[in-house]
Parts: sequence; structure tokens; C-alpha cells
Amino acid sequence: MTEFRIGQGYDVHQIREGLPMWLCGVRIPSETGFVAHSDGDVALHALCDAMLGALALGDIGHLFPDTDPAYKGISSILLLKEVALKARDMGYVPANIDITIALQAPKLAPHIMKMREEIARALDIDVSKVSVKATTTERLGFVGRGEGCEVWVVVLLEKIFLSN
Ligand code: MG
Repeated sequence: MTEFRIGQGYDVHQIREGLPMWLCGVRIPSETGFVAHSDGDVALHALCDAMLGALALGDIGHLFPDTDPAYKGISSILLLKEVALKARDMGYVPANIDITIALQAPKLAPHIMKMREEIARALDIDVSKVSVKATTTERLGFVGRGEGCEVWVVVLLEKIFLSN
């Protein structure tokens, strides 16, 4: 019998001028980027939290403390791969992932396919299992004022390995 576990993740990062903007493992051409201890990939942080949530393994801040110099500037793809290893250790792989990014600017449409491919490659799953959607907030709230980026993720994990 197939066993499933569902998880949701949420993250916000502040936006500031002159910082790199990484989303879903893709460097987005932009004058602004995300304030962070790591590379600031707010989408991958939410994805890590969704997977950790599905497994009831805590959260990304617990696993990779931002007080630890080892994680300064680290690529969030590496964090995601580490979370994926934990999932596989428990017998789980993502059945599908759905990511929603709220960002006022720049437009993300040209980068969506690359984002899906980067995540699929990091998790060693088919790109058809990875959905990335982007929206503005019609200039409302902190996202609309360009002060931050907000991301929600839902992930379904499927048990494919036997464990006892
Ligand atoms: Mg974060």
C-alpha cells in the first residue's frame, strides 16, 4: 500500500538593492535581491520547510541555523539536497510539488521552466512533478511595495522504499 505524507512551507525574505536574487536555484537578473544569511533563495527555503513538515522533522532554521558560519552564503540547492536525503532515508520521495511565489518585480515568467528544471534535478525527480507559479499582489502590502518576497509550498511525499 502506498503511503503519503503532505507538507506545507512558507517563507519571506526582505528585498534590498544590490543583493543577488536567487529563486528556485536560478539567478534572476535584477537590481534588487534578498537579505539572508544563505543565498536567500526564499522559494527553496519554503520547499525545504514543506518537505521537513511532511516528515515532521522540524524546520530549516533548526536544521541549518543562521548563527552557524558554515551556512553563510551557502547555495540553498545544497540545503534542499540535504533535506531530500533525509526524506529518502525515511523511504520518501516527492510525488509532486506546488510552489507559489509572490513578488512585485521583476517578472518571473521567463524563468519558470528553468526553476522547475533546477528543482527536479536537485531532487532527482521528473520535471512534470514540479510546479512553480508566480504572482504579484497588485501593488498591495509589503510584497506590492517591493519590500519583500513571499512563498508558499505544498509537497506530497510518497513512500517508495520499504523500511522497517
Ligand atoms: Mg529563509
